[in-house]
Amino acid sequence: MTVHIRESLASLPAYIPGRSIPGAIKLASNEVAGGPLPSVQAVIAEAAGSVNRYPDMGAVTLIDRIAGAAGVDPDRVAVGCGSVSLCQQLIQATCEGPADEVLFGWRSFEAYPIITQVVGAGRVMVPLTPDHGLDPKAMAAAVTERTRVVFVCNPNNPTGSVWRRAELERFLDAMPDTVVVALDEAYREFVTDPEVPDGLTLLPGRPNVVVLRTFSKAYGLAGLRVGYAVAAPELIAALRKVCIPFSVNAVAQAAAIASLDAADELLARCGQVCKERERVRAALMSVGFEVPPSQANFVWLPLGDKTDEFNRHCLEQKVVVRAFTGDGARVTIGASEDNDALLSAALSYEG
Ligand code: PMP
Repeated sequence: MTVHIRESLASLPAYIPGRSIPGAIKLASNEVAGGPLPSVQAVIAEAAGSVNRYPDMGAVTLIDRIAGAAGVDPDRVAVGCGSVSLCQQLIQATCEGPADEVLFGWRSFEAYPIITQVVGAGRVMVPLTPDHGLDPKAMAAAVTERTRVVFVCNPNNPTGSVWRRAELERFLDAMPDTVVVALDEAYREFVTDPEVPDGLTLLPGRPNVVVLRTFSKAYGLAGLRVGYAVAAPELIAALRKVCIPFSVNAVAQAAAIASLDAADELLARCGQVCKERERVRAALMSVGFEVPPSQANFVWLPLGDKTDEFNRHCLEQKVVVRAFTGDGARVTIGASEDNDALLSAALSYEG
């Protein structure tokens, strides 16, 4: 006799993380290159001394800090074990089964289809525009009375595309009040286009919108797993109900607070990444690559059928990028010398 495993898991797409290969440069997971600041490291070391105790389940201090920075009351903030966990909680909190649909553009963050299927909801994937952006008209047209959640990844992972204010507001205004719109702003801190709104400014008067942010990217804490959601109190209460108890650990909470203390320094680091992004993009375009504009800490190379070949070539040059077979390769912007290595690999690619 074998144990019963849910049949639907057999067809679950696997989440493929960026590979870490000893001796190779990893530009595959949209991490920042610099390690934690000394001030943050000191707090992490100190917090490690108390890990025999459970963390504060309500993450009260961290939530107060995030709420203060966002200019909202703490009952409008939930934290999670990475924002990916909050994405899943959102589906768990809104969908009963396959008749309830989760809608997103495709390609977008690769966890969306997986967590939708894990929860057992239906999924609707709307193709991107020819210029690699989320398609607001097609997404709005795909909303039905079964739609429970729409993910708008802004900037979009992996293509780096954005919706600007007018486009985003038009889309939000077109959404029925019953549909939760998750503005996934994991890469918000790398946005340099002033026309791209901070999702938090769109929340007043829109109780169906939730903004998702993470400490994994700009704040450099990918290994500690902290993300947060800002939304109306009713939605936040629902997210908290489906949270796995104690899933934001004590070291992560302390490190996130210390990172908020050091926000100026960390955000200045993001500014450097953005400069490097433009340098890398220009250099790749000058040797013939198509590189759509990106507002994130990565660039997208829509290589289609040549993606795997390009990926193999980069691996031979000891540069690890993130290949999505048949679609393209996403290249994280790293430290300047790592970006140089990527450029020299790209230059010697004869695709
Ligand atoms: N949203 C997007 C668009 C992402 O790219 C990622 C990380 N790859 C996440 C959410 C989740 O980040 P984390 O769980 O590390 O907070």
